[in-house]
Amino acid sequence: MVFENLSEKLQNALGKLTGKGKLSEKDVDIAMREVRLALLEADVNFKVVKNFTKNVKERAIGNEVMQSLTPGQQVIKIVNDELTKLMGDKEVKIAFASSPPTIILMCGLQGAGKTTTTGKLAYNLKKQNKRPLLVACDIYRPAAIKQLEVVGEKVDVPVFSMGNKHDPVDIAKAAIEHGKKHGNDVIIIDTAGRLHIDENLMEEIENIKNIVKPNEILLVLDAMTGQDAVNVAESFDDKLGITGVVLTKLDGDARGGAALSIRAVTDKPIKFVGMGEKFDQLEPFHPDRMASRILG
Ligand code: GDP
Repeated sequence: MVFENLSEKLQNALGKLTGKGKLSEKDVDIAMREVRLALLEADVNFKVVKNFTKNVKERAIGNEVMQSLTPGQQVIKIVNDELTKLMGDKEVKIAFASSPPTIILMCGLQGAGKTTTTGKLAYNLKKQNKRPLLVACDIYRPAAIKQLEVVGEKVDVPVFSMGNKHDPVDIAKAAIEHGKKHGNDVIIIDTAGRLHIDENLMEEIENIKNIVKPNEILLVLDAMTGQDAVNVAESFDDKLGITGVVLTKLDGDARGGAALSIRAVTDKPIKFVGMGEKFDQLEPFHPDRMASRILG
């Protein structure tokens, strides 16, 4: 189950309210203290937590809620609403170019799941009758090009590569020409991963961005890394202006901090989540469904 621990703690805290016929401000305060702890333990950004509990409390102690017949249920509904809002309210889809090809630049730290996600995205787009082309712009890690080629073969999507002796900017340019000629309507560029934020590599993606003018810059983040993922998102966004995030490994025992903080901290939407290693395990991110999932 996604965010099992957080789910259990929130359900516990809020469950205490539902048995009561009437709620006092103190009841709400006690519950909010537990909610606050649960969120902090789940590694949610502390400012986000503070704002969140403040918003819930303000709404919860309003007369309408307190005097309703089911105040506890009303508070749960408010928490659900606020969780949904925190994650961006609505699903944000890929922004396809009005005249194809749509260009998607993939970036992220090594190990986050960038190459796997690139394959998953291609698989997902193919199912929507698109004709994607994958582009191997990671020329530094010897196995990277091969890995993308293997992924391409598995999802039956062509891969454009020029080996590792060309500038990634030139590879990207050539790939777009190639894609246009071959009727590819979505071009997904896999860039070099990095262990940490690295100025040179970041500059390289920026150069690719300036030349190819992508419709989407998707940052792949590992949900297991919690607040580190949020910091990485802030850095990439400052430098590149990302258009969205793919949060991977939600099937693992991630605590929830990244999923619940990224939108609030960076104002950039989570567009997809990775729910496993297989190519069909990429899901569009629906804030309302995720909130309901967490609250059980
Ligand atoms: P890259 O270095 O960012 O390109 O990362 P890779 O795509 O090579 O992925 C690193 C590891 O994470 C691989 O073992 C993937 O199978 C795994 N991985 C990627 N996405 C997910 C996911 O959503 N769930 C799980 N469980 N594993 C994933």
